[in-house]
Amino acid sequence: MTRVAVLSLHTSPLVQPGSGDAGGMNVYVRELVSSLAQVGDDCTVYVRRWADGLPESVDVEPGFKVVHVPAGPVDLAKEQLPHIVDEFTDRVRAHLEADPVEILHANYWLSGVTGHRLKHELDLPLISTFHTLARVKAETGDLEPQSRIDAESDVVACSDIITANSVTELHELVTHYNADPARIEIVPPGVDHAFFSPGSRHGAREALGLSGGPLLLFVGRIQPLKGVDVAVRTLGSLDMPDAKLMIVGGSSGMEGDREVERTWDLIDSLGLDGRVTIVSPQPHHVLSTYYRAADVCLVPSRSESFGLVALEAAACGAPVVASDVGGLRTLVDHERTGLRVSGRDPEDYAAATRRILDDEMFAASLSVRASEAATSYTWSSMANRLNRVYETVRHQAPVDCLA
Ligand code: UDP
Repeated sequence: MTRVAVLSLHTSPLVQPGSGDAGGMNVYVRELVSSLAQVGDDCTVYVRRWADGLPESVDVEPGFKVVHVPAGPVDLAKEQLPHIVDEFTDRVRAHLEADPVEILHANYWLSGVTGHRLKHELDLPLISTFHTLARVKAETGDLEPQSRIDAESDVVACSDIITANSVTELHELVTHYNADPARIEIVPPGVDHAFFSPGSRHGAREALGLSGGPLLLFVGRIQPLKGVDVAVRTLGSLDMPDAKLMIVGGSSGMEGDREVERTWDLIDSLGLDGRVTIVSPQPHHVLSTYYRAADVCLVPSRSESFGLVALEAAACGAPVVASDVGGLRTLVDHERTGLRVSGRDPEDYAAATRRILDDEMFAASLSVRASEAATSYTWSSMANRLNRVYETVRHQAPVDCLA
């Protein structure tokens, strides 16, 4: 049994994903920690207290506890969080002095800063998982402050192990942050196959009260990075009047509400009223019904470190049309399990979508191969890999950027 402090400063595994700051990382931390607990580890997830009235701690299941750490006003915007990292770190330190652990596992750069300080102060090994990287986001025009880049660089330089979710992320860490490849472990995320598995499209549509006609699906936070505009324009370019688009998710980030408004304006201006539905965020496992109902799942992200949505869709046998970026390059095997599209031209996404809608045999072969390929991604195999990483770092000389 390994005692692990999982640092997740900015977002809680107990929060509904699909809007605000909650998305793949919440699912990742929840499923991972649950699987680690099932293989016998004892994990406490430290989260900033993000609302009034939250209990000090929540026992989720044996070996999986969430501690809400007060640090700054509850309703701080994500952009303000760097100012409370020190306070958060002080409080986590007090917890860990009373309740010691053997491993620090930091998620996202803010927690990485906490983990880095605590690593030195408490003499503990640090595992870092970044989820997104500022220099990679910058490549597609999403600029982050230099302070984040500097902080990420420091955390990269002093982590005992960095987990990358794909070969692409490994290369990004090496080329953009000069990370030592010997200290990077590829640990791909998983999907819960008990829920995300192929099933009756007809039944799923009936359950969702959908009528006939091709259905395109977009799942995720509505923010510029995710390319919901490309999804809407793809529907517009399809030239199939009975096709519909369903968007499942809510607004996120400073631009979030404006992005939802812009999306409605775009739908209006393209004359797609009545053919696009925006459904508010759904409980994670319920999404399987949406994936099963879809003819095509669109993932047109500008950048994507992994892309859980593409994996979940694949696991349910929904053919994916994804952008040719980041982890989607690993997840979507072009022409075999889905189609990848270079660039952001909706005409190209529409052409890829049409290929699937017009050719039932092609669609069926993508669907079967995608769901087969998805079976190799499980949270339990991820937990086993990570557990081996924890074992290794506990017995090796620590990396020390101060030495
Ligand atoms: N999600 C969800 N309910 C929703 C919308 C999204 O549970 O209504 C989940 C989705 O199943 C996926 C995660 O949010 O697991 C999004 O992860 P992804 O890696 O695709 O994007 P990220 O949020 O990390 O940018």
